[in-house]
Amino acid sequence: MLDIRWRAGLFVCALSAICVFLWLISSLVTALLVFSISLLIYLASHIVWLYQLHRWLKTPVLQKIPEGSGIWEDVYSALLKYERKNTLKQAALNSALERFTITANAIPDGLVILSTTNHIEWCTKHAESQLDLDLSTDINLPIVNLVRNSDFIAYLYSESYREPFKLKHSRNTEATLEIWLIPLATGQKLLISRDVTQIEKVDSMRRDFIANVSHELRTPLTVVSGFIETLSDMDGVIPISIRNYFDMMQEQTTRMRRLIEDLLTLSLIESNTQPPEDRPIEMASLINMMLNDAKALSQGKHKISVETMSNLNLVGAVDELQSALSNLVSNAIRYTPEGGEIHLSWQLRNEQAVFSVRDNGIGIEQKHIDRLTERFYRVDRSRSRKTGGTGLGLSIVKHILTRHQAKLEIVSELGAGSTFSAIFSKARTLQK
Ligand code: ADP
Repeated sequence: MLDIRWRAGLFVCALSAICVFLWLISSLVTALLVFSISLLIYLASHIVWLYQLHRWLKTPVLQKIPEGSGIWEDVYSALLKYERKNTLKQAALNSALERFTITANAIPDGLVILSTTNHIEWCTKHAESQLDLDLSTDINLPIVNLVRNSDFIAYLYSESYREPFKLKHSRNTEATLEIWLIPLATGQKLLISRDVTQIEKVDSMRRDFIANVSHELRTPLTVVSGFIETLSDMDGVIPISIRNYFDMMQEQTTRMRRLIEDLLTLSLIESNTQPPEDRPIEMASLINMMLNDAKALSQGKHKISVETMSNLNLVGAVDELQSALSNLVSNAIRYTPEGGEIHLSWQLRNEQAVFSVRDNGIGIEQKHIDRLTERFYRVDRSRSRKTGGTGLGLSIVKHILTRHQAKLEIVSELGAGSTFSAIFSKARTLQK
């Protein structure tokens, strides 16, 4: 088939030839008249097709595309081809979008996409029910207007999303949601909400069980320990040959008592959802107290030194922090052989207050370091037991520090010694 330009040219040539022929056999006037009328008819036909195209473009339905004739047949058939391709592409896109939406809605966690300004762009059905949203009306609204929880808002603006955030369901207060925020490369955020009510319940049952068992065991153990002590003190009642056994029994009951006390402390801290009771803590006197306790525990077997920034103080629960920090000190003494050195320091590091305990004791192999705060994780079980350890000390330390938004840093080298540091954020420090 000829190109549109050729066909238009051919028409003009043919018309001109006819008119020249008419001029020759008739007159110039007749020839010009025929030429003008033909051109007018040609123009009118184009105007009609143009009008039809304009009308179709207003509601471009594939089935209603005009057929056209001549040049316009080509134009409409090209348009038809283009529209068909477009419709197929659109259908493929729609089906991909539908598959994505069905899959996303099948995920039991709720998903919400937030814009760079934290407005809701899209969310799944589970997110709607978990966060009490309605995409049809809440789209483009700021999420802070819909999830009205001050802690959630603080978490959203904190820009620090390494840990998930626990949120109580707005209507069902029994339900707990775990919220994760993931920043996307585009500046948007993906919010994932997970219903952890069941996990929370099991966890709380586990904590209650440990607390109850420990509590129940405390009384009989105190009685047994009391009897053993009384019997041991009664001269002549116990034959010398079995006195040793009584000492061993006493040692074991003391260990059990320590274990129960630590279990109770841990479950108490774990189940405490209230933030710590914040009070200013005079660190110089607290460290001095810890130094005296350390000296008593060491019984002169170690060289203990202290370096304190006297005008630097903390805000927090004094009992909890004293228990955590003295645990680090007592560990240093227990894991440093006689003659070793222990250094306590309380300093500012990059605007953060840091309490460090450095020793030149046995040290820890790198592979153990990440696991030290796990319950009952001990590098050397028998050594821990011999020094009166329960394997729960660093777990308690970590929990207390987490409650105070602080972290535990452990640097150690096997055979060279260790440094345990509690690092407190600027918000927790007080400087005179
Ligand atoms: P434990 O009651 O056994 O001391 P912790 O939770 O306090 O339990 O500590 C866990 C383990 O970490 C210990 O068993 C020990 O192996 C190791 N550890 C803790 N502090 C030190 C230290 N200062 N030097 C060497 N090892 C340490």
